Amino acid sequence: MASALLACGRQLSSALGGLSLGQQALNLTMGAAFRRHASSHAENTNMFLREALVKLDYPEKLQNLLLTPRREMSVELVVQMDDGQIEVFNAYRVQHNNARGPYKGGLRYHPQVDLDDVRSLASLMTWKTAVMDIPYGGAKGGVTVDPRKLSERELEKLTRKLVVAIKEIIGTYEDIPAPDMNTDAKVMAWFFDEYSKYKGFSPGVVTGKPVYLHGSLGREAATGRGTTFAIRELLKALHMGKIADQKYVIQGFGNVGAWAAQLLWEAGGKVVAISDVAGAVHNEQGLDIGALRKHVAGGKPLAEFSGGAAIPKQDILLHPCDVLIPAAIGGVIGPEEAKKLQCKVVVEAANGPTTPEGDTVLRDRGITVLPDIYTNGGGVTVSFFEWVQNLQNFKWEEDDVNRKLDRKMTDAFAALWAVHKEMHVPLRTAAFVVALQRVTRAEVHRGFD
Ligand code: NAD
Repeated sequence: MASALLACGRQLSSALGGLSLGQQALNLTMGAAFRRHASSHAENTNMFLREALVKLDYPEKLQNLLLTPRREMSVELVVQMDDGQIEVFNAYRVQHNNARGPYKGGLRYHPQVDLDDVRSLASLMTWKTAVMDIPYGGAKGGVTVDPRKLSERELEKLTRKLVVAIKEIIGTYEDIPAPDMNTDAKVMAWFFDEYSKYKGFSPGVVTGKPVYLHGSLGREAATGRGTTFAIRELLKALHMGKIADQKYVIQGFGNVGAWAAQLLWEAGGKVVAISDVAGAVHNEQGLDIGALRKHVAGGKPLAEFSGGAAIPKQDILLHPCDVLIPAAIGGVIGPEEAKKLQCKVVVEAANGPTTPEGDTVLRDRGITVLPDIYTNGGGVTVSFFEWVQNLQNFKWEEDDVNRKLDRKMTDAFAALWAVHKEMHVPLRTAAFVVALQRVTRAEVHRGFD
């Protein structure tokens, strides 16, 4: 299948005409958008993407088509604050590619949001939805604001102003935002409500809504659950046995880390060490994750869990295990860490945990890396399920959501693995090759007239 897709890409490339490019020219065509102040995660991911483009040997015109955004919108949001003062906030929506379906991507509220950042993140969504084979393109939005400095009322006003400013380019079949950094189900509920005032009842205009307000069952656990399915498939492919046969170390005990820990533990896996931002705990016999979750939910520090012993949190990644799961923040596995990891595989539940330099060291050491663009795709997949339920006006059972998520994760893994084997490339490059081929095929089969 992989070779057929590759052939399709080449054929389509020649239809667009143009020269075959070497690495030097390729770097030039990546454009300023991919070099300036992009967040390091997006920047690193684009370096990985470049590697896949070299493998595919696409001509320059095709690359430009795939890499540059279709539409960018910059707006100013004027908000009257609680004290009567007027504040102006910059906001952006970048629509990168919609060849495979409506634009899809989060909305972040952060003081460092800028257009370059949003642009790069929009492109990542195109590749992520393509890897997961859900019928969406990629987009991203953001407001340059520190939400901690705003009251809830001000945050609501800001969100409603944003909807009014961008309502003509978003929509249920056009562009579907979702939560991202510092935005949550409450923000999505305001978004849905405001948009519906102008366009009529439109629950499908955003995902990540509260479950009682057109959200989906299973969304909260989706990324951790998807990670667990991904691990199961990887272990099978590597002939390493079952989830229950492995020892796991997890960095991060938030939404993704805690759900992955819980589901691995329920499947009989031994989670031997876990950390959060404040500390870490280990137990070589395996931590009782149910008890640990109760302990943390009770407001107690993770490291003080009586079912294990505290270890320095900076040692977490180096703790011996079979499967290491970074599920916290980006950039934590650089070359120095990569030299010292004591695991067989790294499963990237967080976005961008491995730097390109770290990745090279892991490759040299023969440590398999399951890339973020696939591993944490369970979140956007269940967002897609939420949207489908909104279109159907029908709520699926949680079992149904989980079963369909399993199928999506399993199928996406099979596609990655086929390219990995056929092209002799790491799984990360394979993921980008799969994504690029799927988007290219859609572009060309839709035509350019
Ligand atoms: P979260 O905020 O719920 O949890 C983050 C966890 O990481 C917390 O336990 C926090 O204490 C810990 N942490 C923060 N800084 C740390 C540090 N320096 N060292 C160790 N631990 C640290 O976030 P989340 O939703 O679980 O997301 C985790 C990662 O997964 C992020 O990279 C996010 O972008 C990615 N992701 C999340 C989803 C999702 O659906 N939530 C989807 C795709 C990707």
